[in-house]
Parts: sequence; structure tokens; C-alpha cells
Amino acid sequence: VETTLDTSLPWLDGGPRAAHPPRDMGFLLDATPLEWDESLEVIRYVREHGIAQFIHLYNRIKDIEGDRLLWGDEVEYAIFKLDAERGTVKLSLRGAEILAGLQEGERSVPVGQQCNWVPEWGSWMVEGTPGMPYSGYATDLLLVEKNMRTRRARLLAALAEDEICPTLPCFPLMGVGTFTDPPARPTPGLSDSLFVPDEIINPAPRFAALVKNIKRRRGSKVDIRVPRYRDEKTPDAARPVGCPPPATLEEALEMDEVYMDAMAFGMGCCCLQVTFQARDLSESRHLYDQLAVLGPIMLALTAATPIARGVLLDTDVRWDIIAQSVDDRTPAERGVAAGGGEGGGGHAAMAGHGTKRLHKSRYETISTYICNTVIGQDGQDSSTRAALKDLGRNDLEVPMDEEAYRTLTQAGVDEVLAQHIAHLFVRDPLVIYRERVELDDERETDHFENIQSTNWQTVRWKPPPAKSDSHIGWRTEFRSMEVQLTDFENAAFTVFVVLVSRVILYFNLNFYMPISCVDCNMRRAAERDAVTQGKFCFRQSPISGASSGSHARRPPSSPTKREADLAEAVRAAASSCCGSTAGVEDLSLFEIMAGKGSFKGLVPLILTYLDLIKTDTTTLATINKYLDFVVARASGELLTPAQWMRRFVLSHPDYRHDSLVSERIAADLLAKCHRIGAGLERCPDLHGDFVVPPVLAKDAYAVNMTSGEAPGARISSSTDGLMAMHQIRLQLQTRRRRLLADATEHRARLEAAQEELRNVETQLAVLAAR
Ligand code: ADP
Ligand code: MG
Ligand code: MG
Repeated sequence: VETTLDTSLPWLDGGPRAAHPPRDMGFLLDATPLEWDESLEVIRYVREHGIAQFIHLYNRIKDIEGDRLLWGDEVEYAIFKLDAERGTVKLSLRGAEILAGLQEGERSVPVGQQCNWVPEWGSWMVEGTPGMPYSGYATDLLLVEKNMRTRRARLLAALAEDEICPTLPCFPLMGVGTFTDPPARPTPGLSDSLFVPDEIINPAPRFAALVKNIKRRRGSKVDIRVPRYRDEKTPDAARPVGCPPPATLEEALEMDEVYMDAMAFGMGCCCLQVTFQARDLSESRHLYDQLAVLGPIMLALTAATPIARGVLLDTDVRWDIIAQSVDDRTPAERGVAAGGGEGGGGHAAMAGHGTKRLHKSRYETISTYICNTVIGQDGQDSSTRAALKDLGRNDLEVPMDEEAYRTLTQAGVDEVLAQHIAHLFVRDPLVIYRERVELDDERETDHFENIQSTNWQTVRWKPPPAKSDSHIGWRTEFRSMEVQLTDFENAAFTVFVVLVSRVILYFNLNFYMPISCVDCNMRRAAERDAVTQGKFCFRQSPISGASSGSHARRPPSSPTKREADLAEAVRAAASSCCGSTAGVEDLSLFEIMAGKGSFKGLVPLILTYLDLIKTDTTTLATINKYLDFVVARASGELLTPAQWMRRFVLSHPDYRHDSLVSERIAADLLAKCHRIGAGLERCPDLHGDFVVPPVLAKDAYAVNMTSGEAPGARISSSTDGLMAMHQIRLQLQTRRRRLLADATEHRARLEAAQEELRNVETQLAVLAAR
């Protein structure tokens, strides 16, 4: 899980990435995070100046127009140490070392083949993206899998002999016994966890500060609970669901729920994200809303998390684990203690004094749509926010920093966007750098980015950075997907989301449903086997003539038309109760992909779009493969990684039907996931006939067709041997072709002879009968 700041702060390393947005991982060489008590003295200042910085930025960039589509994926990777024979697997805490090697490797790579590597929360993790964003040409879709495979090859090349890098969201043995290499034990310190040692936190100060400050703000350790999968011999638990947090490891293991108590359990999860640059502000807002609806759908389709803390879960995805793992809300904010009263936590300097009720963690679904377009017209007027509420679209309570909202609207930010920003600002900054408190609000955006980048929601709306080498426009990031075992799958889902975003804009699709329905879909997405068993609220007719939710692109309609549209839209969304909203139906994932009734389905929409834009044949062939795969996943024909991993555990000879995943099982599972990811082992349950070619460490870097030095020295007995081998291979190939041709000819002659023979025998038979 990413913990980046998308700001204009200096790079840690001067790597070759001019085409990349400037970014800070908090690795400022000369900056130190404040302790929480010191933070409390400036968090109010940081929040206020964050708003001021946003306003300056916004006024400078709100009129950017005509940007082209740029986009890119992010994949998070984990590194493990495997002893297949002894059946052990540990987190390999070599992330920093491996990262340095990967970054070094990129320096000698030709432009166009570069990857970009950045640190991640865990000291066994790294994040990789393409070296520069992809463009809007359809042919760029072919580059995704290629680049992902290159990344995997480079990571493989950086591994030690006994290390593996399977791409799955969650390490199944996190928090079980001694699970790191080098070994470390949980001790009081940053996490104060019963299960995980602090050594697994990335050593850069930013990450330790995140861990400490979440705990301090909350007033206690995080309290993560996920339902346990019940099997025949799963023992009854002494401590029931909802019991108080355990004080000891023994108590923790007696709990009915799978209990976890540290940020590592969530921020140690790996995901797959896709970011798009929009034409302009308005398009980025439209995309944000539409993609938000697809968040739960894509989470369910990519489900890959059936195990945590060595126990089979009754859920299939990582999302809730992460949400709880970074939940810094005070007891009062969580609604478990009276506001401001004893035990409620809070502080006068905190956002909302730390006592305002907040229904969600910082890591959650969005609570408000941000497009201010109602019924095909930009709604700059003051009634827009209310109208969206009336429409039943924004039907959730959206807690806001009221003062921020006033400041934003007074500065001319429209109400809907002001609400979004003020909603982000109900959170406090978590890591403040001592050296970066007083800044020029007209030129810097650290404080805005500080809050923005620690609101980890299903979609993120990213304004252009204050400073960068190259032009960067308005972007929308899609964040819900789980990382898949192979680059074929990761590419298929990335390409699918890219194409959906195109189709949304091209056909002006309207997926809007009451935002409470999106939350409801999110709960459904987490359920075990949601992909085959679950139904999801979805809009029956997303192709919106002139009805509600149309994008701002169309010319403003006349006032009377507008009123009529509004009336119709209000009728259409009359009930905001999930399941009974007009036009919103419960559909299976397959129906969402392939269509039902008048709704043609996302995949046919995409294919039609590709026809209409006259996509080239080669690109189309690959896209067709991806789309066929996505549909096969949605129909249940192919398993989700979660289903497949669960079955792997359930059918493992060591499994005792007690929900526990032993180290031997986990080691076998991860070894297999690694081989599948590297294309060394086929897995028809996951991929059917789709082929995942091997990824080899040897193919990590492009080689130079050198002319070399000292030519004479190059013929040795070993090159002689090589040449002879190639010569023999060539001769054998030639002979093989000739023999094949011979065989074909003989077969044809044999068939002709047999045919003639049959003929003759028939005639003989006729004669014999006379
Ligand atoms: P985050 O802030 O989420 O960590 P990253 O900087 O890691 O974001 O990049 C997200 C993705 O966006 C990368 O794949 C990158 O290639 C891509 N990207 C870079 N510049 C742009 C741009 N101008 N528009 C869209 N995507 C971009
Ligand atoms: Mg990133
Ligand atoms: Mg990201």
C-alpha cells in the first residue's frame, strides 16, 4: 500500500525520470519528522495553510485545457525468503538494498525501457511503475504487460538465490511466530504489537512517524478484526466477536475474530493502481465519480486475500484490513466514547477537536461525488450541492472542516469541490517535517499534499503538482484493485480499467447511484466468493441521453429544459435506499461485464468503442484476450486468486480443517505463486488456456549489440562448443523440416492408396455377391 506524497519536494536519488511527476517519499535527506506532541503545536497551522496552498494552486491551474490522455499503473512487490525443503517462508527485510540495486540498474537502461522504483511502507517491499506514463494511442495498451514483465524480470535479477517475489496482496504469515529474515521479535517500541517487530517498517523516518502518530492520535494501538473462516474442526473461541482488545498474545489467539494490532498488517498489503490524466478539471471530476462506482466491482473481481495472520478469513479482500490498520480516529470520532469526555480523546488543536464523529477511517471508500454537473450543466450556482443531495446521489453524511469549507467557497471554489477538500481536511497531518512548516503558500503545496496523500480512498483526485519538470495535468487515480499473481492478469485489469475510463467519456456513461449503494457494494465485494455469489447495485441504463448526471461537455441547456431534467432526475433517484433506487438493480459481476436486459455490459461497450475508433488489428487481438479473460473471471469460469488460494490451503495434505495455515502450507503456496507469476508453472484454474510465458532474470535488461574489444581473444574452446551446438541445432531443424514434408507426402500417398484400396474392395465385394 502506497504512502507517497505527490509533491514537488526534492528527489532522494537523481535518477533519470524527467518524464515522471516529481515526488517525495518523505525521504528528505535533511528533514526530520516532528514528534506527535510537537506536531500538535502546528497541526492547525498545517491544515489552514494546506487549504491556502490548495486555493493558490487551484486558481493557477483550474483553467488548464486540452491535456492529452496519459496514464500509468503502479504495482507493489514483496520479497520473501524461502526454504522449500524445510517448508519455511519469511519476509526478507532487504527492500532498501534491493531498491537501491533496481534504481542503479535503471541508470543504464535506454529510454522507453525504463521502470521506476520507489520505496514502500515495509522493509520487504518496493513499488514499481513504468518509467514514463503511457499515451492515449491504443498501441500503448500493448506496452503494459511487457513493462510489467520487465519489472518482474528486474526484480527477479535483484533477488538472492533463496528469495522469491510472488505478487499477492498479503503475506499469509504476517504476525505468526518469527516471520522475518533476519529474525526479529516484537518488542515495545513503535508498533507495540503483540505480533510484529518494528524491524519490518521501512527505516526511512517518515514510516516510523506514520506508525507512531497514528497510534498517538488514536490514543491506542490499532484494532483490526476480520471474521475467521469456519471449517469442520475450527475450535470454538473463548473470546467472542466484539470482545475487548487482548492484552497478551494468548488472549489474542483465543479470539473468535482474526485480530491484528499494527499498521504492518494493512500497509504491508500490495495493490494495483491506475492513474489517468484528464483533459481538464471537469473531466477529472467526472472520471473520479464514475470510477468510484467501479471501485467495489473491480475489488471483487481481483479478490486475492483469503488469509491473514496464518488464519483463513471469511472474506476475500484486503481492503478492510488496511482501513482498520491506519484508523487514527479518536474514540470520540469513532463513536465509542462521548465527545470530549473521559476517554474520548481529542485535543483542541486537532481537526474537529478530535471529537467530531467520523464514520470512516482515512483509508476508505469516498463519501462524496465531486462532479458538480447536474443534468448536463456546470453547476457553479449555490444550489448545486443541495441539488446533488436531493438527487439522492450524495446521500451520505459528509463530515467537513467547516472553516475550510467557508474559506474555500469564499475563495471561489465551487461548493461541491469545496465539500470534497473540506472533507479531506477532517483528518490531521500525520507526518510534519520540522524543516518544512513555514512555506510560501503561493508556491508550495506540502501541507495540502500532506493531508491529501494520507486520505487513502478508493479513488483519488490529483491536482497538478505545484512544481514539476514537465507539464502534468489533472489526474484521477483508481485504487481499489488487488495485485494479481501474474503480469498477464495485472495487465488485463489495468487495460480493462483504462478502456472503461475511455468508454465512460466517449459514450458519456452515467454510473451514478446513491453513494450509499457504492458503500454497500464495497461490503459485498469483501464477501467470500463475491465474484460468483454476490450481486452488486448497478445502474440499468448507464447510457444517459440527456438525463441526470451527464457530463459537462454538452452545451448548457435552457433553463426550462434544465428544470424538466432536474425533475426527471429527482424522480429517477427518488429513493436513496439501496436496492430500491429506481434504475439501480442488483446485478452479478458477469451481468455487469456482459450485460443484462437493455444494459449491454461493460465489455461490449468497450469492444464497440474499439471498433468505432478503428483500433489496429494487432492491438485488438491482445485486448480481446484480456477482455475474454476478465469475462471468464467474472463468470466464475476461472477462479479469483482468493478462491484459488483458499482451495490450495483446504486441499493441502498438512491442513487440519481448523482454519489454520501452517508455515509449510504457506511456504508451498508462496513458492507456487512465485512459479506461476514467473510463468514457470501453468495454472489452468486461474488462467484456463491463457498463456503466461516465462519471465526470466536473464531478460531483465536490454543488452548492447557490442562490437567489443580485442577480437582475437574471443574464439575459445567454449565459444567453439557454442558454435558447434548452434550449427547442430540448425542442421537438425533443417532435417526436421525435410522429414516433416516427407511425412506429409507419405501420409497423402498412404491416404490415396487406402482410398483406392477401399474402392477396389467394394468392387470385389459386389462381384463376390453375384
Ligand atoms: P502515487 O502518488 O499514487 O504514488 P505515482 O507517482 O507512483 O503516484 O504514479 C502513478 C502512475 O501515474 C504511474 O504509473 C505514472 O507513470 C503515471 N503518471 C505519471 N505522470 C502522469 C500523468 N501526467 N498523467 C497520468 N499518469 C501519470
Ligand atoms: Mg506510487
Ligand atoms: Mg498510487
